Amino acid sequence: MPAFCRHACRENTVKRLPRYFLFMMLAFAAAVLATPPATHAARKPPKRSIKKIAGDLYRFQNNFHFSVFFVTPDGIIATDPINKGAAQWLKTELAKRFNKPVKYLIYSHDHQDHISGGEVFADTATVVAHKNARADIIAENRPTAVPDLTFSDKMTVTLGGKTVELTPVRKGHSDNMIVMRFPAERTIYVCDIVSVRSVGYKTLTDAYFPEWINSIKVVEGLDFEIMALWVAN
Ligand SMILES: [Zn+2]
Repeated sequence: MPAFCRHACRENTVKRLPRYFLFMMLAFAAAVLATPPATHAARKPPKRSIKKIAGDLYRFQNNFHFSVFFVTPDGIIATDPINKGAAQWLKTELAKRFNKPVKYLIYSHDHQDHISGGEVFADTATVVAHKNARADIIAENRPTAVPDLTFSDKMTVTLGGKTVELTPVRKGHSDNMIVMRFPAERTIYVCDIVSVRSVGYKTLTDAYFPEWINSIKVVEGLDFEIMALWVAN
């Protein structure tokens, strides 16, 4: 190869490199811009399921959280709807599996991570909660249906010959928590005041001490064999 060619080729190569490099950089930038953010790519659909607890009482799962519902000949008694998407999914599943409307929707307490989305069932259901919960739901503008039926002492809801007993546990985790007992199924549904293998959630928001221990004593005084918890451990 002539000396001038070697020189010219090397020069040519040296001159071309920045253009080639620039092209690679532009291609890389275009690829990055075209890729959706990692959070979008990694977002998974919520894990939802329905499992029988006992008799006609079922557990409803939305990711790490669980509420219960009770099927009777005259309709369904649902509890914490969890959130709007979960409630819409549950409503569709209930229609498919049982072909019955939700006649009662019972809130455990006013916190929105439990009761958001109640409006999904409000077309057919009477919404039930402790009277202090109703006041907080309105004051805090919770994204859910405002309860139609409230109580301050014990209350029993009967539908289709089946019953659920609602027991306030006084101050502890909020001032409006109730425990739901399904006597024939020997089961209670409890939220937030009982945490298995943990003390409680983060900073124990909206907590009253030392009254909390009295709430646990109320739960201990109930007659049951199965405890259905809000969080599975
Ligand atoms: Zn709570």
